[in-house]
Amino acid sequence: MTEPYKHKHKHKPLIGQTNLELESFAESIGEKSFRGRQLFDWIYRQQVDKFNEMTDLSKSLREKLDSDTIHPLKIVNRDLSSSKQTRKFLFELRDGKLVEAVLMVEGARITVCLSTQVGCAVDCDFCATAKMGFVKNLSSGEIVDQFLHLQKMSEEKITNVVFMGMGEPFLNYKNTIAAADLLHHPKGVNMAAWRITISTAGIVPKIKQFSMEEQPYKLAVSLNGTSQDQRLRTMPITKTHSFSDLMRASKDYAYHSRNRITFEYVLMDEINDNPKDSEKLVKLLSNVECKLNVIPYNEIGGEYSRPSDEKIEAFLQPLKRANFPVTVRWSKGQDIDAGCGQLATNSIKN
Ligand code: SF4
Repeated sequence: MTEPYKHKHKHKPLIGQTNLELESFAESIGEKSFRGRQLFDWIYRQQVDKFNEMTDLSKSLREKLDSDTIHPLKIVNRDLSSSKQTRKFLFELRDGKLVEAVLMVEGARITVCLSTQVGCAVDCDFCATAKMGFVKNLSSGEIVDQFLHLQKMSEEKITNVVFMGMGEPFLNYKNTIAAADLLHHPKGVNMAAWRITISTAGIVPKIKQFSMEEQPYKLAVSLNGTSQDQRLRTMPITKTHSFSDLMRASKDYAYHSRNRITFEYVLMDEINDNPKDSEKLVKLLSNVECKLNVIPYNEIGGEYSRPSDEKIEAFLQPLKRANFPVTVRWSKGQDIDAGCGQLATNSIKN
């Protein structure tokens, strides 16, 4: 049993704070503001999390900071899939709640899949996280700290970030964008904006906001159906944000941002895997600057199942005529429940 990671510090965790906030923090403890910039550099660029290794900090400053002020999260468990290409990590928040993140290796591409909420309110019928219900939003620090911990665990530099773990990022919009901004900051982690993807189940007003604000990050939309009725079967969010509104907002985004949008399509047996659906997709997406990512469903022991390989092949056939790129994600983490839509902590501490 691990000790509960209760907050027992006098300071807010440093991870999650911006350059300006760290400057104010330094001043608030009687130090010069440039000490805040030094802390920013150590935490995000050099990714050092021990004050005694931050060699240019004054002794007086180091003495004022207690050693566990840096991380808002701690790792409590890790799993390695049999392919050894996917590792899932369980983190404990300071209030004892749990979230998961996944590290995936595909050749030179090292991707982390980060959570933005504990649980999720969107209630997609095929999703393990949905079964937990919504528990809370993560702070930007709790999101960024998943990345920093995973970078320490990874032998190679992480090349891509996807906000596609537990939760709907656009229902925690402010903290998700703040986390992306921290990862993108040139004096910090310095991850290129096009390597950061935010994936939404289709919160239309937030897609519009993301577009209006000209956010530089990539956008992915979980489509999972080709009509209002079909999508509604597995994604009740379609009642609030209709299929046609979602398509319009996605097209507008792609047009105005000149960024290619990614549509994710989780392929479920007898639900949305008919070749007629892929024919519809070819037409539906033909005038959008996009790419389509087909994800054969990862079973979680519920009513949905993955189509047979023959059915998957038949579905993919019409897509060969598409005027947009199509990729198939053969998830590698199924044996440890780390595939898309499979993240859920088995126990939630209150
Ligand atoms: S698929 Fe994503 S948006 Fe839908 S319930 Fe699961 S975590 Fe939430």
